Amino acid sequence: MTVSLEQSTIGFIGAGNMAGAIARGLVKKGHDPQRIIMSNRSSGKLEALQQELGIRITTNNQDVCRSANVVLLSVKPQMMKDALAGLDFTSVDCAISVAAGLPVAKLIEFTAEQVAIIRSMPNTPSIELCGATGLYASQSVREQHQRAAEYVFGAVGEFAWVDDEGLMDTVTALAGSSPAYFFRFMETLIDAGVKQGMDQDTARKLVVQSALGAATLIKNHPDIAISERRIQVTSPNGTTAAALDSLEESGIATMAEAAVNAAVKRGKELS
Ligand code: NAD
Repeated sequence: MTVSLEQSTIGFIGAGNMAGAIARGLVKKGHDPQRIIMSNRSSGKLEALQQELGIRITTNNQDVCRSANVVLLSVKPQMMKDALAGLDFTSVDCAISVAAGLPVAKLIEFTAEQVAIIRSMPNTPSIELCGATGLYASQSVREQHQRAAEYVFGAVGEFAWVDDEGLMDTVTALAGSSPAYFFRFMETLIDAGVKQGMDQDTARKLVVQSALGAATLIKNHPDIAISERRIQVTSPNGTTAAALDSLEESGIATMAEAAVNAAVKRGKELS
């Protein structure tokens, strides 16, 4: 990378939900919108993002490769081969794929071995700048490319590197798919509250704020083990103890492990 990350141009091929979320995060973080260029097959989404963020837009993917130091490959996995066919990446420092399940080997093939590839797996809370992204660097990736990926995904939340590509399926299970598990758990708690006679809006407000509060407490105090927090709020023979005993009896640990294993298995089948 010949320019600083703040001065570098970040490109996107594909102007979908994920590209929009990341571009919003970058602009919010202070990245100059004129140093963001995005392409899409059609111009509707591009024009909306240009109006909202002031970014540069094009319907020609090669324009992105010509202008950008870092290019995010943000089309659907099944569209990737077509989107990258014939593109010249020689002036691009690194390409970061956000495509679920598409292995580095395929991305190297689709880009005709012209550019260092990083694979990422972001999740939807990135839209609210509190995403969790897993990152994997292929062999040709250098430290400066890794810093570029961290700059991009740090703008929309937290990130973590894995050193084995096989673990990207675990990233999917623990981050990509996991917001849905928490949504499901919140739904069931709200339903249980409604069955106790509470109105839906009140139950929703209490459950959602408690989920946010629990996550915030854990995140803001990384020195305190999650189990310690749990024990702190669980008085012997109290209400929390009764609920937790019931969850354990219902097999919460087995259920969570089976869910993660199922997501990992499906991820491997799809890639
Ligand atoms: P999307 O359908 O909203 O966006 C993809 C965009 O790419 C569309 O606007 C489409 O018109 C455009 N496109 C298709 N072919 C093109 C081409 N040849 N040239 C230029 N543009 C082209 O999809 P999304 O939800 O933003 O997902 C994009 C990628 O992000 C996918 O690979 C997906 O696996 C990954 N991803 C998404 C999420 C998510 O929660 N949305 C999470 C993790 C990873």
